[in-house]
Amino acid sequence: MKRWFRGFIISIFALAAVSLVVIQFLQTRRTFSVNDNMFSVSVSTAMDEVIRQLGVEMQGDIRNQALDSLIAEELLMVGIDLHPAVGLYDGSQGSFLYSSDPGMEDMLEVSPYRYSFSPAGVTASGQLFIILAFKRSLLTIIDSSLYLYMSIFLVLIIAAMFIVSMRTLNNQRKLDRMKNEFIGNMTHEIKTPISTISLACEMLQDNGVAQDEAMRSNFVGIIADENQRMRILVETILQSSKMASKNFALTLREIDVNAIVGKVVQSFLITIKNRGGRIETRLDAEPPTVLADELHLTNLIYNLVDNGIKYSPGAPHIIISTSRADGKFIISVRDHGIGISKQEQKHVFEKFYRVSTGNVHDVKGFGIGLSYVAQVVHLHHGSISIESEPGNGSTFTVSLIG
Ligand code: ADP
Repeated sequence: MKRWFRGFIISIFALAAVSLVVIQFLQTRRTFSVNDNMFSVSVSTAMDEVIRQLGVEMQGDIRNQALDSLIAEELLMVGIDLHPAVGLYDGSQGSFLYSSDPGMEDMLEVSPYRYSFSPAGVTASGQLFIILAFKRSLLTIIDSSLYLYMSIFLVLIIAAMFIVSMRTLNNQRKLDRMKNEFIGNMTHEIKTPISTISLACEMLQDNGVAQDEAMRSNFVGIIADENQRMRILVETILQSSKMASKNFALTLREIDVNAIVGKVVQSFLITIKNRGGRIETRLDAEPPTVLADELHLTNLIYNLVDNGIKYSPGAPHIIISTSRADGKFIISVRDHGIGISKQEQKHVFEKFYRVSTGNVHDVKGFGIGLSYVAQVVHLHHGSISIESEPGNGSTFTVSLIG
């Protein structure tokens, strides 16, 4: 989806959602005001009757309790089952002669439900008013706002669904971009060792070079190096995609991890020597066997050691150790390279993820090695952790059941 089109869709959706809420709000307000008007008319009708009765029955005296109950009765007759606060207000004095609820006098004073009357014999310097104040019950408020709340709720659900689909679309785009980058990267990276190997072969075909022992072993070393890199790369990509298939299953058997470490170390000796580094092993696991898939565990250690070497700018110093603790078989690979910041550590196991800052750019890679390592660990029901600090190297620790 094109960027402008996505922006267009988001704007249209936002406009529609806001309009919906505004329409619902206006509608609810209209309903409110219609209800209020009907309510006022009913109260007026009841109060007309109250005043008429007061004129007939309560000559000379207004019995306050009787006034409250008369009002409540008449309100009930028009279908209003509420007990309002009642006040008898002397207009010219600006004071209450009576109020059913003294705490509500402020509310009574501003209430719109104000009815003028002048019964014979009542001592008041001016005109009298009966004022009512209704405490709106929570239920009536909730009831009348229900429509608005429901619309807001529905809009929120639609917005949430919209955000989820947009995010899925975004992820899809990101994945597409990463896949394209990966293919471009891989083609480029495979072409480089191929041309290096063919160049080294050409040199070896030269009689002068072939007879010089030092030069010959240097070119053979280059070929072995590049070959090894391609082998790990192809193997990792192949196994990683195999693992994604549903029918994938590990071939588990008791394997000697120390022997595997020995094999991996052997295959990196030339690379390490060429770079003037060293590779140490501390194989303390006793017994050294664990139930695992030999091929994948070997690739896992290869990948960790290969990264340790790749991300060590000077002479690499790698330490591979095995141990046992709390019923777990621990394999750890330590390097003294560039390290990984805390923030990046969260992402390095994601497929195609590569740290994109600093001098990491110079290092060949596709961001697939650690995701494969994590897949292997997960399939073995183990766990993997990183301890690293930029500039101080990294330690990857794999813990397997066993
Ligand atoms: P890549 O092919 O890029 O090496 P990986 O999946 O093996 O892909 O690693 C992902 C990223 O994690 C790398 O791009 C690198 O930035 C970082 N990384 C992995 N291992 C190390 C390490 N030992 N030291 C520093 N950074 C590392």
